[in-house]
Amino acid sequence: MKSKRESNARFRLVLTLGLAVVLPALTLIIVNFQHVKSIQRDKKVEALIHRDFQYLLSISAKKMASKAYQLTEQARDGFPADSDSDDEKRRKLDEIVSKNPWFAHVFLFDSKKGIILQPQHNPMSERDAGESAKMYSGWFGLEGAYLCDQLRRRPKPIMWMSGEGERSGGMVYMSTAIFSFPELGRDRVVLGGASFDPKYLKQTFFPELLKEVTSQSFTSDPEQLYGQEFHELMPNEAIDHPDKRLAMMIYPSDTFKAEPDRPLAMSAGWGSGKPEVSYKLDDPFRGLALGIKFQGTTAEAISRRWVWQSFLILGVLSVLMIGGLVLTYRSVNKQVALARLKSDFVSNVSHELRTPLALIRLYAETLELGRITTQEKKNEYYSIIRKESERLSALINNILDFSRIEAGAKEYDFRETDIAELVRNTLDSYRYQIEQQGFALEEQIDPGIPAVKVDREAIARALVNLVNNALKYSDNEKFLGVRLYREQSVLKLEVSDRGIGIDRNEQSRIFDKFYRTCDPLVHNTKGSGLGLSLVRHITRAHGGDIEVESTPGRGSKFTLSLPLVNQST
Ligand code: ADP
Repeated sequence: MKSKRESNARFRLVLTLGLAVVLPALTLIIVNFQHVKSIQRDKKVEALIHRDFQYLLSISAKKMASKAYQLTEQARDGFPADSDSDDEKRRKLDEIVSKNPWFAHVFLFDSKKGIILQPQHNPMSERDAGESAKMYSGWFGLEGAYLCDQLRRRPKPIMWMSGEGERSGGMVYMSTAIFSFPELGRDRVVLGGASFDPKYLKQTFFPELLKEVTSQSFTSDPEQLYGQEFHELMPNEAIDHPDKRLAMMIYPSDTFKAEPDRPLAMSAGWGSGKPEVSYKLDDPFRGLALGIKFQGTTAEAISRRWVWQSFLILGVLSVLMIGGLVLTYRSVNKQVALARLKSDFVSNVSHELRTPLALIRLYAETLELGRITTQEKKNEYYSIIRKESERLSALINNILDFSRIEAGAKEYDFRETDIAELVRNTLDSYRYQIEQQGFALEEQIDPGIPAVKVDREAIARALVNLVNNALKYSDNEKFLGVRLYREQSVLKLEVSDRGIGIDRNEQSRIFDKFYRTCDPLVHNTKGSGLGLSLVRHITRAHGGDIEVESTPGRGSKFTLSLPLVNQST
């Protein structure tokens, strides 16, 4: 009946835990696990990082183009008017090159008047000027009209001629803007142009731009950089990639694969290796590509780390959940067991109270009837009544003490005490009972035990409880040993018997409140399960502790240790 009720309670608990905690938590963990797995399988983190790279590259490309357009348009605005004299035109072109050191040369072609080409004032540009002028006049002489027509159709009347070419310094990347002047009539074939200095592009324009893009984008807020959707799409951890520094490079797109070591420009921290994502540039820098990667890491490594961290977190969560469950289960189990012990306690105590009361009543009534004639018999009855009432008060004292301890209201009255005398007196009042029950009492009190500060009543009660247990739990061999001795700075009080003993597994639990062992003899003996828990409380309050050594069938030895120094006062 009892165990059925308990297993019912346990089943209800498991069901509640299962439905309320385990099921939702487990579902969450599994769903998250699947989610992380799918991210890992589909390489979603890498894809998102690459998409962001692509976006960043396209922005950088736009920036480069708009800067090149801006510089060119600025130069074009300074171009001479059609009505200017040739000298005036030369002067104005010269002014443009002096103001815009990034151009290798500027030129003005008029089908009627030929070409005026103004090189930058440096030896290399001047050396290449004649060759370039020849090339432009030849080309525009043939296709000038067609080019003007083409330019007229464009939203911006600028076209670009870009690519690698032979110069006096070797193979270089060049980009030249060619523009028309829409304000002139359709019959006129007039073209202007400005060619970026290859050295300027390589040494200043590209590096500065790369520096600007890499530093700016990664000190700024990712949300600004990538827009709101970044946060919506990016798994949390991967968001930290803006903290990882980027590196970018510009290289000739068609030759990169064949010659990966020939970049045109690199941002700081590129190190070595290929770009993770590349982007082919359009006009004005056709023929080039932008490449991007992380400094010192890769999208794959970031993704791997993220996946690992996620799995780790999920693992830790699962372990915590299981741990929590086990703890809860154990603590509820304990409560269920305690509830059972409490109900056992009530019935045990009622039994214990009833027996002495019945005896006292029986003997008192017998005496009252006056049927007992011999004084000896009378004395025997008196002593039974006295002993039974002593048993009652011991029990009631235990219960009162216990309830005080439970309420945290138990107070001890520590006084300097001759503990040897205390032990002797306590045993004396039990000696008759002990001997009458057929026990051999071996009392061994070492001489010279110093006085200690203890609560007399409490220590006596502890000893009485231990002695009572020894008497209760002995069957065949009736022996009671009490020893008081000093071991260095510890005072030891030992109570031993040769009774039924205690199973090893139960030895640690006998000091728990209400706990009684499963031995059949214990079940047939009255008891409340409070005695040893009180003894332990008392010894601990004195700064000491209690230990048990016991072998089932051979007997038990309880040892109280009380420290002689550092005593609580
Ligand atoms: P009780 O009122 O049951 O004696 P205690 O707290 O004094 O309660 O003891 C707890 C349990 O420890 C007992 O029920 C018994 O099973 C076991 N026990 C205590 N002392 C002894 C002993 N000397 N020999 C064997 N078992 C003992």
